[in-house]
Amino acid sequence: MRILIANDDGYLAPGLEALVRACAGLGEIDVVAPEQNASGTSNSLTLNRPLSVFSAPNGYRYVNGTPSDCVHVALTGVLRQRPDLVLSGINNGANMGDDTLYSGTVAAAMEGYLFGVPAIAFSLVERGWEHLDAAARVARAILERVLAAPPRSAAPWLLNVNIPNRADADRLPLAVTRLGRRHSSKPAIRQTNPRGEPIYWIGPAGDAREAGDGTDFHATAVGRISVTPLQIDLTEHRMVGAWRDVLAAGAVE
Ligand code: MN
Repeated sequence: MRILIANDDGYLAPGLEALVRACAGLGEIDVVAPEQNASGTSNSLTLNRPLSVFSAPNGYRYVNGTPSDCVHVALTGVLRQRPDLVLSGINNGANMGDDTLYSGTVAAAMEGYLFGVPAIAFSLVERGWEHLDAAARVARAILERVLAAPPRSAAPWLLNVNIPNRADADRLPLAVTRLGRRHSSKPAIRQTNPRGEPIYWIGPAGDAREAGDGTDFHATAVGRISVTPLQIDLTEHRMVGAWRDVLAAGAVE
């Protein structure tokens, strides 16, 4: 068993070390993580400069790039053998609902999935590293269950796990969920730079809007560990026919 572990909080993040610890004894582990915090970088790849891969004293590799860069170069150039599993996290903060579109944590796992390797992204629901040990025990328990009896499917799979920050997190039930939705982000924060010019900080994510029973938001709010199976197809399948009617009337001149 070979496991590739990445994250988006950077190779020094406590959550990464916790995930590595959670995998102890499961197989051969390679860590390839960003040099700096790259949260919110989604699936971006660095195409305008080369990437360097450095080795840290603890054996981790780190890359001056994004989470997707890390997994991409690991799978296509750095690792001698293809991993059986790609893990990402444990992230500092939730990746639920629309967060998954922006998340570097989810993106790192998704990069493995894109290459046909089963993958899991792990996140702590609240920021701060409180109860990281319990979260690591949750990750371990999920890994043991999944590895013992993975779903019977030829296709690779991608799981998004959100763990409440609780000392008893490893005693909480698991809930298989769908993604909820957030309200639009809060407004950008406008400030003035020392030259008197306006600058803007991206505002915080909105609160949950669709958080009903069955969603990731609901599960974590009622004290469950949320596990959402993800896919990538963004096609609005229900609308393909309607758009054909609108657009296929004649050739575009
Ligand atoms: Mn992060």
